[in-house]
Amino acid sequence: MRTLAAALLDLVFAPICLGCDAPIAPGDGARLVCRLCRTRLRTPPPPCCDRCGAPRLRTGRTEEQACPECAHWPDALAFARSACILEPPADRIVHQLKYRGWRAAAEPMAERMAALALPDAVRRDATVVVPVPTTRARLRERGYNQAELLARWYARLTGREVRLLLERRSGAASQTILQPVARGANVAGAFRIAGSAGSLADAHLLLVDDVLTTGATAAECARTLAAAGARCVSIVTFARAPTARWVPS
Ligand SMILES: [Zn+2]
Ligand SMILES: [Zn+2]
Repeated sequence: MRTLAAALLDLVFAPICLGCDAPIAPGDGARLVCRLCRTRLRTPPPPCCDRCGAPRLRTGRTEEQACPECAHWPDALAFARSACILEPPADRIVHQLKYRGWRAAAEPMAERMAALALPDAVRRDATVVVPVPTTRARLRERGYNQAELLARWYARLTGREVRLLLERRSGAASQTILQPVARGANVAGAFRIAGSAGSLADAHLLLVDDVLTTGATAAECARTLAAAGARCVSIVTFARAPTARWVPS
């Protein structure tokens, strides 16, 4: 049942979908992302790599043997899963959270992430959620770290604990403007353990971010946390950027 407060809010701010700008019908069941956009959010098509969740493409009659997406990841980065592919409307929803100040988008995004099936080891062992940090400059300019908003909702929805274990060193360039080859080099040494982190001994930590692209950022976070004693690190993101190999030629 819709509350009186929600009905009054609708009179003042007719809800507009963050994914497509269409008005959200009363009774849709959501206030931020419409039903059509929710059905258009697709997970990567199976079969997927057990480790990184990328589609394993069939070439002719055989599936690819080694996964080209995670073959170069460090051992410290155990698993990755994403709730949807970074394509419309997911890309638009990410943009609203990240650049348009729509903090409230984090809740429906985290709901999709919380519904993901996780590998057994992650489900069993990874009880601490760690947001991928942003730079102090960006935090000042934006007022929040979108990964932390997602991490807090995700932790609440899945019964985990959030710890801000990582800090980003200042001065690193934005990843979005760089080509994949430059991304790894750009994030090398980009993170450090937060002063109050305490012992990470033998922990399997679960990173949270909005988008997984090449995995270079996650890999660098994993190296930093492993060097401080963590056993391994996995990552859950809202969206995953498809690479050229996902697109059939
Ligand atoms: Zn929509
Ligand atoms: Zn893989």
